[in-house]
This record gives sequence, structure tokens and C-alpha cells, in this order.
Amino acid sequence: MITQNYDEIQKNIDAACEKAGRERAEVELIAVSKTKPVSMLAQLYEHGCRDFGENKVQELVEKYETLPKDIRWHMIGHLQRNKVKYIVDKVFLIHSVDSLRLAEEISKEACKKNVTVNILIEVNVAQEETKFGLKTDETAELIRQISVLPGICVKGLMTIAPYVENAEENRQYFRKLKQLSVDIMHKNIDNISMGSLSMGMSGDYLVAVEEGATYVRVGTSIFGERDYGLKITNV
Ligand SMILES: *Cc1c(COP(=O)(O)O)cnc(C)c1O
Repeated sequence: MITQNYDEIQKNIDAACEKAGRERAEVELIAVSKTKPVSMLAQLYEHGCRDFGENKVQELVEKYETLPKDIRWHMIGHLQRNKVKYIVDKVFLIHSVDSLRLAEEISKEACKKNVTVNILIEVNVAQEETKFGLKTDETAELIRQISVLPGICVKGLMTIAPYVENAEENRQYFRKLKQLSVDIMHKNIDNISMGSLSMGMSGDYLVAVEEGATYVRVGTSIFGERDYGLKITNV
């Protein structure tokens, strides 16, 4: 079931790339596995999936310890500074950096462990009060400040679009994030790249691909609904 869902989403992404005239290799599907048991991740791993997304540090670390080491772990949730030290040497990409203090902590811990951590800057393009993320007009300045820190490398931008019934309503936000990444690229800030755009979830990933997403983060459409009542992180 999970593997069929995964294949279907991959095919839908193929079609969206075709429609938008994009190279299929530019878009990576991240299986968002938060709250799901390791057995389900293992099943998808066997099927060929290597990119998994988690939003809690402890859960990511537990799954990291259990599953094969060639998995690329994506930290997609809000990250507290006191937990940075547990993941800097385990994650492939942190999608959710939205302050200088957090970036400084990542830099500090990365240097201690002698690694470079790749990050995205989370932008609240829809300006929802309930969401984390920077304002659009604060983003370039933060990136400039982070660009000089050792052990941390900005690779692009991420956004969490509003929950909507009709995915088309989010097209404007995906377009804004893409435009912002182009604007920042033109500022020619040293040591950063704007090549990655993390946007699109189960309800709107196809629109996001059409608007330039390089990572889509899909949970429910692969694994089914999440049950937050159960503690099943290490089954
Ligand atoms: C949970 C989550 C997703 C996946 O959402 P679905 O609607 O289940 O696909 C994507 N991005 C972030 C940041 C999430 O927390």
C-alpha cells in the first residue's frame, strides 16, 4: 500500500515536471515519516526511498540509529537550539532555520563535530500568524549574516503553505518563494546557494512542482493519516 502510494506520487511528479517543462531530476520526493513506525520506513527503504523527513529531534535520532546509514534525513520541523547538538552530524538538510541565534548554534555544534551542515531558510510567505518562518523582506539580510558563519551552508528556501481545500490557492505563495530565491541569488552573496526550494505537501505538491519546488515533503498521501494519540516512535 505504502509503496504503491509512493510510486503513484513519483509518477504524478513525473507528469508535473513534463507539464512545466522541468527536468525530473531536479525534484526530490521526501517521505515525511513523522509518527510512523520504523517498520513502515524500512518497507519504503527496501522499495528504494532514501529521503525521509521528520519534525522531532528525538524521533529522528531514534530512527537514525535503527535504520540504514545511507538514508538522507531531513529535519523539517521547528528546531530548538538546545537540541541542535543531537542532529548536526545526522541530518542531510535542515529545512527550518528562521533565526540568526539558531544558525549560530548550528554553526557552533557543526564546528565541534567537524562537519558542514546544509540548511534552508524557512520563510512564512503567506504571513500566517500561527507559523514559524521569516518575513519575506527579512530573509536576504539573515542569509547575509549566516553566510559568514563556519560549518553551515545556506542551500535555499523553504515554506509551509496554508492548509487549503484547493491547491491552486497556494500557487501564489510558491511563486513568491521562487521569486524571492531568484532575487536573493542576484545579490551574489558569497558561500551560499539558492538552488533548493522546499515547498509542497500532500495537498499541493503538484502545484509546487509546477512553480519550481526541488523538494516536496509528502506524508499523509504516502503513509496515511497520522495518529498523534499513539506513541509509536520506536515500534
Ligand atoms: C507533516 C509535514 C509535512 C507533510 O504533510 P502532509 O500533509 O502529511 O503531506 C510537510 N512539511 C512539514 C513541515 C510537515 O511538518
